[in-house]
Amino acid sequence: MLMAAHTRSWRNAIKPVGTLTRRSEWVRELPKIELHLHLEGAMRPETVRELSVERLGWSGTLEPGWENSYYTYTDFSGFMAQLTPRFPGRADEYGRIARECIEDLAAQGVVYSEMSIDVPVREVGDDSFFWPVFEAMESERRAAQERLPIRINFIAGLMRTLPVEVAIYRTELAIAARDRGIAVVGIDLHGDERLGNTDSFAPAYRLAEANGLGLRAHAGEAVGPESMWSAINALGARRLVHGARAAEDPALVERLRLGDVTLEMCPTSNVRTASVPDLPSHPVRRFYDMGIPVTVNSDDPLPFFTNVERECRLLVDEFGFSRGELMNLMLTAANAAFLPASERQELAELLETSYDPRAREAV
Ligand SMILES: [Zn+2]
Repeated sequence: MLMAAHTRSWRNAIKPVGTLTRRSEWVRELPKIELHLHLEGAMRPETVRELSVERLGWSGTLEPGWENSYYTYTDFSGFMAQLTPRFPGRADEYGRIARECIEDLAAQGVVYSEMSIDVPVREVGDDSFFWPVFEAMESERRAAQERLPIRINFIAGLMRTLPVEVAIYRTELAIAARDRGIAVVGIDLHGDERLGNTDSFAPAYRLAEANGLGLRAHAGEAVGPESMWSAINALGARRLVHGARAAEDPALVERLRLGDVTLEMCPTSNVRTASVPDLPSHPVRRFYDMGIPVTVNSDDPLPFFTNVERECRLLVDEFGFSRGELMNLMLTAANAAFLPASERQELAELLETSYDPRAREAV
C-alpha cells in the first residue's frame, strides 16, 4: 500500500519549470512590480491546509506538502478544476490570505502589486458576501502598507462563464467599493476563454471606463489571437494578461508593436497549462526584443510553484535578460499600472535608482 502511494505521488510530482542558477541571485535584492497576481492562487500551502481541515470538510487531513501531489493538471481545464475547490470561503479567510500574500510579496522585494480577486458575487442583486470580503481585504491592505514598504491595489475579476448581467453587476459593485474608499483600481475578465463570448462583455467595460476604472482582460492563453483581438477592439482593454499566443498572428504582433497595449506575461503559468509547449518556446524574449510592452508575473504562485522573483530569475537564467532589461520590464509595469501619473513616476524613479548603478552613484 505504502509503496503504491509513494509511486503515485512520485509520478504526479510537478517538476519546476526552468532552471535557476546563481547568476540570477542579484534579482532578489531589487524592487519589483507584479501587475498580475490572483489572490485565490497565492495562498500559502499551510494556510490551505488549515482552512481545509477546519472548514471544507475533507475526509482526513491534508498533509504538509499536499500541493506536490495534488496539482497534477496538464492543461487549462485541469488547472481550473484543481484550483477552484481550494478557494477561500469566508470574509476572514479572504482577509487572512490578503495579509499573507502582501507579506510574501514584500519578502520578494515587490514594491507595488495589483492583486486580482474573482468578485464573490454570482447573482445580480446579491451583494451580501461582497462587502464583508472587500472590507476585510481593504483593512488588511491598509495595515500591511503601514508596516511594509509596499503599495497594493485591487482589481475586480469578472468571470467569463457567468452571464454578462452578473459581470455588469460586479462592475457596479467595484465602482461602489472604489467610491467608498476601497482600493479597487480596475476590472479584469478571467476564466476559460473557450467559454463565453469575449465581445459580449463590452457593456461592463464601457461602464468601468466611464467611471475611471482601468481595463484589463485575460486573452491569448487558452484561445489564440482572436481572443486578443476581441479584448483590444471590443473591450478596449489596454492590458492583456498572457498574450503568449499572439505569436500565431503576424498582424496581431504588428498591432502590439504600436505600443499602446501591455502584455502581462506569465512564462511558468503558460508552460504549466500547455499554452506554450515549453519554456524556450515562450515569446517573452522575442516580444521584448520587438519593442512590445511586456511585463513579467507569476499569475498563481501556489498551483504554478512559482512567484514573481522566480519568474524574474527565469528571465535572466533562461532568456538572458540583463539587469537593464529587467529594469525596462519593471518600468513598463510602472507605466501600465492603474495609478495616477505622479505615482507611476515615483515608481519609475525608484526603479531607475535601484537598478542602474550609475543612477545610484548620481543620487
Ligand atoms: Zn491570470
